[in-house]
Amino acid sequence: MTDHERKAEAALEALDAPSVRAVRVLYPDLHGVARGKDIPLRHFPGMAEEGVAFCAAVMGTDLRHTPVVGGEEGYVDLAVRPDLSTLRVVPWQPEVAWCLGEARTLDNAEPWPVCPRSLLRRVVDEYGERDLRPVVAPELEFFLLERDAEAPGGLRRYVDELSRVYTVGAVSDPRDVVLKMLLWCDELGLEAFAANHEFMNSQYEINLRHSAALDAADRAFMLKAAVKEIAVREGLLATFMGRPFADQGGSGFHVHLSLGNSVRGNAFADEDGPAGLSALSAHFIAGVLEHAQGLQALLGPTVNAYKRIIPDSLAPTHANWGHDNRTAFCRVPAERGARARVEVRAGDGSANAHLITAAILLAGLDGIERGLDPPAPVVGDAYRMDDAHAGSRLPTDLGAALDALEADEALVERLGAQLVSTFLAMKRFEVERFAESVGEFDVETITAWEVEEYAAHL
Ligand code: GLU
Ligand code: MG
Repeated sequence: MTDHERKAEAALEALDAPSVRAVRVLYPDLHGVARGKDIPLRHFPGMAEEGVAFCAAVMGTDLRHTPVVGGEEGYVDLAVRPDLSTLRVVPWQPEVAWCLGEARTLDNAEPWPVCPRSLLRRVVDEYGERDLRPVVAPELEFFLLERDAEAPGGLRRYVDELSRVYTVGAVSDPRDVVLKMLLWCDELGLEAFAANHEFMNSQYEINLRHSAALDAADRAFMLKAAVKEIAVREGLLATFMGRPFADQGGSGFHVHLSLGNSVRGNAFADEDGPAGLSALSAHFIAGVLEHAQGLQALLGPTVNAYKRIIPDSLAPTHANWGHDNRTAFCRVPAERGARARVEVRAGDGSANAHLITAAILLAGLDGIERGLDPPAPVVGDAYRMDDAHAGSRLPTDLGAALDALEADEALVERLGAQLVSTFLAMKRFEVERFAESVGEFDVETITAWEVEEYAAHL
């Protein structure tokens, strides 16, 4: 038995769960969709050693299973290496343990260039070289739906009443589905600490605690997979797609970030700095805003995402920042000291947790390295300001956002050219398919095409 096989055996033993009969190895593709393989327990140590082989075109395959990128190399293999530190028993299916992995070359010599989890690991290392430790808390919203052949798009809302805002209990969760999700996600080790009904009809939010960036992105990724899985088991469909209904607002994926270092717990806080914030936090915010246009393609990675980003949606329409301001791209919540942080509010529920965490951190790192300073904060309702005060406008459709990403050479280089070109090719094909099937993009209508393309997957 090799060293690694022995480690895998030991990790299974440490789980101390006699109920477990299979390990489900899961990894995020470029959409953030959980792909994987089920492995009977006795085969797991060997597979952990070799890696689990998949056709690498999985990273360039769109949501209609077209392998847009991958064929030019002859559909070669990559290997997913399980990260044994992520093994955990699935509370709603105790015969299964989840284990996250990331894509590497078959010989295990290098990370696969198009792998969101490997990317985030590398970004965290880049911060580590500067004695900085990114800390992240993901905040995700989603809709719960029921399949109904009679309903438009074949889906109707689980609870369909106006103003169930922030309610809990039977009025907003008549079958205790959200309660189950919360408790099981917490038992799964996701540090899910709260849940309630959100603003829109049948929209919910489950809050996750903060932790080191890779672990936080892992937990956001698992939250999505778990919520979707539990919904299916309950005969429902959960979707994180940005805006499934024209008569309701959208679902965000807000990302709270701060940086720790070995001298100060939270290097964003500075009692003596302006507004109790450090110069480092200002450079970070400036970097994020500098790259906001390009970042938007990753934060809003679907045709549908741009229907969420409208005035009064509490999602930003401009690249700006503000103190405790929910109309801004970067909101600096009022807490200081250990809790000082920046919340990036642009993310669409459908965004890929690993990819956006890495991309925001890379943009912030650029601001830190170049010592950039942010513009003045917006005060009040940024939706009611002219562009001169609100900041530069964000792209208003996916095509424009993809162009902005391609044009942001510094961000592309930091993310990796191959990852970005794969993303762009796949997403441009998606835009083309939308244009062919639907025609003009209209921010006011949600088409059946979007619901079919995104609701079940994202
Ligand atoms: N649903 C809003 C969004 O799409 C956010 C609402 C909130 O602040 O929780 O980002
Ligand atoms: Mg919310």
